[in-house]
Amino acid sequence: MNNKVSVVKCDRYSEVQNAVENAVSLIGGIGKFVKKGDNVVIKPNLVSKKKPEEAVTTNPEFLHAVIVMVEKAGGNVTIAESPGGPYNTTALKGVYSVCGVDKAVEGTNAKLNFDTSFTEVHFPEGKTVKKIPIINPILNADVIISLPKLKTHAMTSYTGAVKNLFGTIPGTYKAELHFRLNERKSFCSMLVDLHECVKPTLSIMDAVWGMEGNGPTAGQNRHIGLVMASENAHALDLASCYLIDYAPNEVDTVREAIERGLVCDSAEKIDIAGEDIKPLVMKDYLKPESHFNLIKLISLPDALNARLINALASKPAMDYDICVGCGECARCCPPKAIDMSTGKPVIDTKRCIKCFCCQELCPKKAVKIKRPLLNRFMIKFLK
Ligand code: SF4
Ligand code: SF4
Repeated sequence: MNNKVSVVKCDRYSEVQNAVENAVSLIGGIGKFVKKGDNVVIKPNLVSKKKPEEAVTTNPEFLHAVIVMVEKAGGNVTIAESPGGPYNTTALKGVYSVCGVDKAVEGTNAKLNFDTSFTEVHFPEGKTVKKIPIINPILNADVIISLPKLKTHAMTSYTGAVKNLFGTIPGTYKAELHFRLNERKSFCSMLVDLHECVKPTLSIMDAVWGMEGNGPTAGQNRHIGLVMASENAHALDLASCYLIDYAPNEVDTVREAIERGLVCDSAEKIDIAGEDIKPLVMKDYLKPESHFNLIKLISLPDALNARLINALASKPAMDYDICVGCGECARCCPPKAIDMSTGKPVIDTKRCIKCFCCQELCPKKAVKIKRPLLNRFMIKFLK
């Protein structure tokens, strides 16, 4: 098991070329991963049409730096992503343009992917899913380089290297997986299966600016000032979670990877190259309002635990003062729990599976996270 993670300081994106190259050289150098003539697919995090300064998507200067490094090693680069919402040429054009990817490829030979075909891959080793639809450019790559962004996430608490691969699943299938695996544990187990199926060659984390609070799209920008890289996405996530003060068992993708023996069982055991991360830990990094770990403090039988989790679970709630009635939340809602017949979204709470896709894809940050009274009470008195 490779537990090596490089950590390099990078205060601003204008310095990112050196930082990216240093981070990769600390884990063996780009020549270890890319050979002349390789078809290299770079998978950034382009969850939705967000401007670079919103710190939601992989920064274009960061992406440009990785393209330059790969091209110096002789790789032929394609940028590929299946963003939230529909997966078609129009949607891809919009995302590439708003997220600054058009600019990131300027002066390079990198191509933008517009091939929206996919293949259902049989993955018998999967614990939760044994068949996974994956976009073809990923399947046709010699080398996959994943560029996650360090952010909090309303449903999974944290999104980083493993979760970034959810964007290798074509559009509507993402909603189907949310619907089928509507409980956080099974959803995160699927994400670990997906990672093992895709197995990126290398993951390089954009942690120059991250997001805290109600991520992955509606939180606040947070300066972290780091670039991190690893061959093992699970080790990269374990190190990132440690940095933003999550225990491994608070993030189900990390907990699951530890249980499956895909990564060491504590951040102290990670083989860090570069900066010592202990003094860099941010104890005040804001968690999403949906996050609570109090259940783990209480040992209850599974059935009771499930009831308590349900009673404590945060829910989406629309802020009608901000909502413009665009209907994007209704279109992306996996169980179709949002009614737009009055021109404004109304959630059927019985059908809602609390996946927070509506919160993630609302362009106006109008979907808030509402904590039940019991949840607020427990946090106040038991924390
Ligand atoms: S996506 Fe946001 S702005 Fe659009 S209807 Fe839903 S809540 Fe309102
Ligand atoms: S209303 Fe929002 S949180 Fe509930 S199921 Fe629909 S998209 Fe998911």
